[in-house]
Amino acid sequence: MAQGSFVPGHRGPARIEGRVSCCVFHGNRVFITRDGGLPVIPQFDSADCSFDLDAAHYLGLLGGTHCYGLALQREATLPAGLELLGLRALILEGNETVAAVAGQAWQVLEWARTHRHCGCCGAPTVPHAADRAVECPDCKLVFYPRIAPVIMGLVYRRNELLLTRKPGYAPGRYTVVAGFVEAGESLEQCLAREVAEEVGVTIRNPRYFGSQPWPFPNSLVMAFSAEWVDGEVRPDQTELEEARWFAIDALPDLPEAVHISRQLIDDTLARMRGAA
Ligand SMILES: [Zn+2]
Repeated sequence: MAQGSFVPGHRGPARIEGRVSCCVFHGNRVFITRDGGLPVIPQFDSADCSFDLDAAHYLGLLGGTHCYGLALQREATLPAGLELLGLRALILEGNETVAAVAGQAWQVLEWARTHRHCGCCGAPTVPHAADRAVECPDCKLVFYPRIAPVIMGLVYRRNELLLTRKPGYAPGRYTVVAGFVEAGESLEQCLAREVAEEVGVTIRNPRYFGSQPWPFPNSLVMAFSAEWVDGEVRPDQTELEEARWFAIDALPDLPEAVHISRQLIDDTLARMRGAA
């Protein structure tokens, strides 16, 4: 059974009451239940919950139920019926709603854990009155959750895709170019720079495909396809093990369907085959 849709929000009710959903992390693993084999964010009765819900962060409405994220500070006994699963393994199971809730919870909890003091004067921070943020009571600096923009680029020409692999990647698996956006850079500039740096070619006609939050640790991935213009493939020796052209009817092993890189490849292939 599906868990219902998730509507993110940062302002919860004044008091935590009744039945709530809670994404409880122990280290980088999260408690889930299963319904028909599918992962579900567990629900708790707030009046009878062994976890300290006062320390929880509000995440939004999950299937109409208020939903929170909580990081356990110490060892906890596993409540009956719950399973403790790594966040990456949970996301790879491919349930979009559960992945979105757990991914958001992880990023908010990690941000809260690492922003307990002002980065300027060192004073303990306090919650911001209006936003999902913490504030320094002394120098008034406001700290929002960190999001790192990442560009992803699939370069194509005629009936070929330019794919790369990093050392340590699954044997035989290839993916697209990716890198962090630099301060002061547009997405298009970043795409052209990353492609030039990683594989040594020039591109034109960048086409936006879509975006995906990726909570390892706090990336927002924005995916583009782009047409090859010029240049022989020269893989960046410091970052890549290999980069080369593949004919679209002889592609290597690709990332799982849950990754936006794979969705970008599939969309570009459909476009190329449609135009052929
Ligand atoms: Zn300060």
